[in-house]
Amino acid sequence: MHEVSIVNDLFRIVLEVAEKEKLSRIDRVNFQVGRMMQVVPELFRFAFDSAKTGTIAEKATLEIEFVPVRMQCRHCGHAFDVETQEFHCPRCRGVNLDLLQGKELFIKSIEGE
Ligand SMILES: [Zn+2]
Repeated sequence: MHEVSIVNDLFRIVLEVAEKEKLSRIDRVNFQVGRMMQVVPELFRFAFDSAKTGTIAEKATLEIEFVPVRMQCRHCGHAFDVETQEFHCPRCRGVNLDLLQGKELFIKSIEGE
């Protein structure tokens, strides 16, 4: 269950940003998570709910925006979104691929006052 450590790391940054922005209450946190990170939304939410308890984000809602895995074939240059666990180029069947996106783990925005 690596969601707990991911959430704890992100949440620490959320609180730092909130302190810098002099927020007294956090209402909403938007995370951007790459599909490649294989985060389970329910576990992510559970970890978030436990991390926020007793903080200024206690009542904050969580939004998770998933970023699709996108790869580029080194053989033919074709770029494509990966929907399955089979990583090969749909054009030339090449398996020598570069990851373009999908490992994101960002705080997109924090709302509060
Ligand atoms: Zn290809």
